[in-house]
Amino acid sequence: MAVHAHPDDESSKGAATAARYAAEGAEVLVLTCTGGERGDVLNPAFEVPAGHEFESLAGKRAVRRLEMAAAAQALGVQQHWLGFVDSGLPEGDPLPPLPDDAFARLPLDVAAAPVVEAVRRFRPHVITTYDPSGGYPHPDHIYTHTVSMEAWEAAGDASRYVVGGGAEPWTPLKLYYGHGFSLARLRAVHEAMEGQGLESPFGSWIESRAAREIPERQVTTRVRVDQYFPQRDAALVAHASQIDPDGFFFAVPRDVEADVWPWEEYELAASRVPTHPGEDDLFAGIRGTEAAR
Ligand SMILES: [Zn+2]
Repeated sequence: MAVHAHPDDESSKGAATAARYAAEGAEVLVLTCTGGERGDVLNPAFEVPAGHEFESLAGKRAVRRLEMAAAAQALGVQQHWLGFVDSGLPEGDPLPPLPDDAFARLPLDVAAAPVVEAVRRFRPHVITTYDPSGGYPHPDHIYTHTVSMEAWEAAGDASRYVVGGGAEPWTPLKLYYGHGFSLARLRAVHEAMEGQGLESPFGSWIESRAAREIPERQVTTRVRVDQYFPQRDAALVAHASQIDPDGFFFAVPRDVEADVWPWEEYELAASRVPTHPGEDDLFAGIRGTEAAR
């Protein structure tokens, strides 16, 4: 189960991992906390689908549902909406308050209840989410981390979150933070592109990351996924309002990427099964054991 903030996050973070495990026979569910209603059009070539509008929150939600369905199909995964409303990315100094209906303003028990329920119904062995910083300073990403941690702790405890439908408690076994752009990845791809005389999109990003005082997050697990880059790319393109097919996500030639960085990276944040350093599989320690029930 991969918990994400907005439609398109599942395609830009861990998408090839999801596609790989789905192709290998795992049941993979993407949980999408919000409808992405406050996202702007980020693709200059985007055309609003016939019969739709992209102005109102409801209009954006409807378009982004179409995009999400196509992305989930491209990845071969199941997907479930939690139905919360995108908080938007506040901009300005001072930052404006979040809208009244924002996901990130909800009390924790309200926001986490459907995540707990989804864990009890879907019964995942492994959950992926974002690190405590959100990985990206959007309030919905930070709150996605918070509700995921709450569900990790509470879903197996029958005394907590007595939610409708009577789903039995379920205790997931491993919890990961996804790390899409480690400094090691940025540097490896940057150097490979420069070495081929190509313009790297990562130069200034590497400088600002290297200069910042926050330590890099730990990577415990690299999952080899280059075989699934085509599925990831198809899912990205499916989010036509958000992803420019000539933009950032497609700036690195795929043969270069597969050659120097064929992985997606994770940090094992918590585990209820024994684990070993250097694992290359999110199901390591579960696969083939009694726990894989
Ligand atoms: Zn997002």
